[in-house]
Amino acid sequence: MNWEENIRRVVPYVPGEQPKDRNIIKLNTNECPYPPAPGVRKRAEAFDYGRLRLYPDTEAGDLAEALCQYYHIRKEQLFIGVGSDDVLAMAFLTFFHSGRPILFPDITYSFYDVWAELFHIPYEQKKLDGDFRIVKEDYMGENGGIVLPNPNAPTGILESVEVIEEIVAGNQGSIVIVDEAYVDFGGESCRKLIDRYENLLVVQTFSKSRSMAGLRVGFAMGGEKLIRYLKDVKFSFNSYTMNMLSIELGVEAVKDEDYFRNTVQKIITTRERVKKELAELGFTFPDSKGNFIFASHKDIPAKHIFEELKKRGIYVRYWEKPRIDNYLRITVGTDEEMDAFIRHLRSIMKKEPA
Ligand code: PMP
Repeated sequence: MNWEENIRRVVPYVPGEQPKDRNIIKLNTNECPYPPAPGVRKRAEAFDYGRLRLYPDTEAGDLAEALCQYYHIRKEQLFIGVGSDDVLAMAFLTFFHSGRPILFPDITYSFYDVWAELFHIPYEQKKLDGDFRIVKEDYMGENGGIVLPNPNAPTGILESVEVIEEIVAGNQGSIVIVDEAYVDFGGESCRKLIDRYENLLVVQTFSKSRSMAGLRVGFAMGGEKLIRYLKDVKFSFNSYTMNMLSIELGVEAVKDEDYFRNTVQKIITTRERVKKELAELGFTFPDSKGNFIFASHKDIPAKHIFEELKKRGIYVRYWEKPRIDNYLRITVGTDEEMDAFIRHLRSIMKKEPA
């Protein structure tokens, strides 16, 4: 036998580019353009590096306490992981073990099918309608689990808590994961449903609204039983996933609610302004409630704009995939960054220098 026949082969997820050049205007991976809360910096500067010889707290207790206080949940209802990617991967591994296909939209976060392939979980991608909305009825048949990002990515479309609740209530025989990576930018969280539905897991991240993508902090909220199962799998895999610094700096980010609200509001204000400017240039886009806009132009191919912007040092995200290959996903940056983006966009469209 050839050893290569024994390999677990996967086609990995491809993240957006992280260019070394700091002068790039980076609107391609939905990071926050503003720094983390000032307390995060203070705590990082005061950190006693000698403590790094010790293992971190396996339960990330201080961070768990801060999150529980902030979200009014009990620690038995909280799971913390290394970014929400880690939390989602653990949740796929733990909850989708029935052999029946799990369901998620055809246009969505492109990591879901990668995890399904990695863990040999059968899956069905349910087609979004012509306006990129989910068709609720598609999620009402027999299934091995459901994953719904809300707002969806890359469309930014938000479903109401009522619609999600109907899906959760209609699927009490399987686990429904709601990925709320972008919910802070104008959505309502389904967190309030976790006491009512044992089969609901709500996943969030510090990477977007809390400006901490580099520290890798994500978390899930759900019923006690669900969280216990999730922890059993996690602790069978690696008990020391959360590093000491991420735990401590994460606490500071949660403590500063004013800074958090302020940052989120700035992004929302910029997003709404950029929507108007894009519309004036003839772009169409769903009404995004995330920190990004998924835009298309009927006359100018998205791929051309993507390439031209890149030449000018502005990175946005483009996928050469069916149904979305004429769209650009543009992360909302600072006002200055978005001004430069619009200026270059105008010049590309008119074929003039910016
Ligand atoms: N879910 C969605 C929908 C996302 O877009 C992202 C960001 N790539 C994530 C989860 C993961 O983010 P992180 O691991 O940084 O928390």
